[in-house]
Amino acid sequence: MTHILRTRPLHDHLLAQVQKEAESLAAQGLQPHMAVVQVGENKASSVYVRKKKEACESHDIAFSHIHLRNDISQPQLIEEIQKLNNSPQITGLIIQLPLPAHLNREECLDAIATAKDVDGLGPTNAGRASMGMTSKTIYPATPLGIMRILKWIDYDLKGKNAVMIGRSNLVGRPTADLLGAAEATVMVCHKETKGLKQFTQQADLVVVATGVPHLIGKDHIKKGAVVIDVGISPNPQGEKTVIGDVDTAAVAQVASIVTPVPGGVGPMTVASLLTNVIDATRLQNNMEKASWDIPHLMLDF
Ligand code: NAD
Repeated sequence: MTHILRTRPLHDHLLAQVQKEAESLAAQGLQPHMAVVQVGENKASSVYVRKKKEACESHDIAFSHIHLRNDISQPQLIEEIQKLNNSPQITGLIIQLPLPAHLNREECLDAIATAKDVDGLGPTNAGRASMGMTSKTIYPATPLGIMRILKWIDYDLKGKNAVMIGRSNLVGRPTADLLGAAEATVMVCHKETKGLKQFTQQADLVVVATGVPHLIGKDHIKKGAVVIDVGISPNPQGEKTVIGDVDTAAVAQVASIVTPVPGGVGPMTVASLLTNVIDATRLQNNMEKASWDIPHLMLDF
């Protein structure tokens, strides 16, 4: 039997813990506070910033939106980032991507103080993650959310063949690192990979993060495999909905578990960003990261 795995219950469970952690920090006079720097008027970015603001403010996390002109120069942007690094109020700092083409994204991400880098995209957090250092590392929210989904379904990665499709710094590369750290055998595929199917057909676990709508169909997937769909693309049939990289209905005929879009990885990204803000606030105040409870969902697969 195939499970189309909606993650809302796990999202809610994590956010209830975020709320408690935020209250407990507030009782100690510590206010978690996320700042998002947005440059220019990208419409999708404005929607994402609004969603982050709503998520933070409904869980007792303060939120600041620093909206900068499209023509800001690189040195001016770095100066803004440094001001936020030095602000004792701000405990989490994000640069909303994409940046306008004249700005150097890596240099900006590198300018964020490691302790406040709640997207986990700066080189120090990325390096710590890929070295398997866990205690102080802030992981990017989507890979962390994927690992939490796998823990929720009690999926033992040890010795499994995993295929990660996509190798971005945001999703593919850090997810592949985390799957490898859990002792899966990981193959990373990308847009230049020849014969994608020959790799995915061998895989016990397929994670897809390409932004190519319905790239993965029934023929790509081995019977009983677990399929995690990260992709988000506009649905050509309905302006306000989105579709993923996986043809969910077709893949559900062979996979044991497939995450839907929307309702799969997306909610876990939101929840994990908020757990990162709490963890960053704790680390900055000489506490360990919180111990986030992930219950086990009893599924037969
Ligand atoms: P990206 O454009 O940086 O990277 C895409 C990757 O896919 C590249 O490594 C590329 O080589 C690979 N790729 C492209 N076409 C391919 C093909 N035909 N076959 C195999 N590989 C191919 O994108 P990203 O930032 O990693 O995001 C990927 C997707 O995930 C996007 O749709 C994005 O919107 C979505 N996303 C979703 C969430 C979420 O919370 N659900 C979070 C982040 C990103």
